[in-house]
Amino acid sequence: MDDLQHGTRNKRGDWAPKRALQISPLFTFPPNPIKILKWLPGYLLPWNVLFMVSAVVFWHYLMPDLATMQHLAWGWVLRILALNMAAIFVFYGVFELRLFIQRRQGTHFKYNAKFPDDTKSDVFLFKKQSLDSLVWCFAFGVPIWTGYQVGVFWVFANGYVPWVSFSDNLWYLLALGFALPIWHELHFFCVHRLIHTPFLYKWVHSVHHNSVNPSPFSSLAMHPVEHILYFSSVLLHLIIPSNPILALYQMHFAGFGAMVGHIGFDKVEVGQGGFDTHAYSHYLHHKHFEVNYGDGLMPLDKLFGTWHDGTAQAEAQMEARFKRRVARMNRT
Ligand SMILES: [Zn+2]
Ligand SMILES: [Zn+2]
Repeated sequence: MDDLQHGTRNKRGDWAPKRALQISPLFTFPPNPIKILKWLPGYLLPWNVLFMVSAVVFWHYLMPDLATMQHLAWGWVLRILALNMAAIFVFYGVFELRLFIQRRQGTHFKYNAKFPDDTKSDVFLFKKQSLDSLVWCFAFGVPIWTGYQVGVFWVFANGYVPWVSFSDNLWYLLALGFALPIWHELHFFCVHRLIHTPFLYKWVHSVHHNSVNPSPFSSLAMHPVEHILYFSSVLLHLIIPSNPILALYQMHFAGFGAMVGHIGFDKVEVGQGGFDTHAYSHYLHHKHFEVNYGDGLMPLDKLFGTWHDGTAQAEAQMEARFKRRVARMNRT
């Protein structure tokens, strides 16, 4: 596949899509149903549907039964931890192996022409981005993600929160399932803005931003405080009427879905075709630090003047914003 039909490559070899990033049409006024219908397949495929399916499969075939989860015990907690470790390792690892280790599509559709592990850096443990990322991900990220799952399922199993069933409230739960990525976006945007404040950035979020050129294993390379904040989106299900499968979908969306923004390629080639990754918005955040705190599912970055759609015009606006800030700081 010729990636230059879909984008451009600069002198350094970095590839960028020709098409500007679009904010979802969900919140435009007046609503435009045609636009929303055209946008819908990209919203659902491939990732959202994949995480819905994974939640259903995990819940029915891999998670311990409810009676077991009523009582906290090491056996089932460690079983979920082992399951999550294996699932994250396989899901992230498939993309890391194919795109960054085997380099099966070279730099086709790759935003940054360099491969992170080709350059050693002192900011990383063992001087390698991938090894550093594995430590943060598996020593802190997956155990904290599992901790939330254990807590939420224990609460559901004991009936401490209302449990709405699919047989009685199908439409409510389907609508809630559809809206959960929007909740994730709102929650992520707020948490993300918070950890970009100077103190929290220095002590917490800078760990994640060490990966300027991310790869799949960078996804959960975060300080544990960031993991705690990031995965707390699932607590919504203890406040509103919900169902544990939707809580699990929320957690898979956050855990597996963290990979989406860090894949480093705009398209994954499969045979003669391929699929879009939707990674560019968050890639620009890693590249420029102070743009795209969200992913454009809600117009929050637009509202706060931090949206970067990948065009030269957006780049110029960002540069002007940075210059104004420096001038302000120099005056004080
Ligand atoms: Zn990131
Ligand atoms: Zn950030």
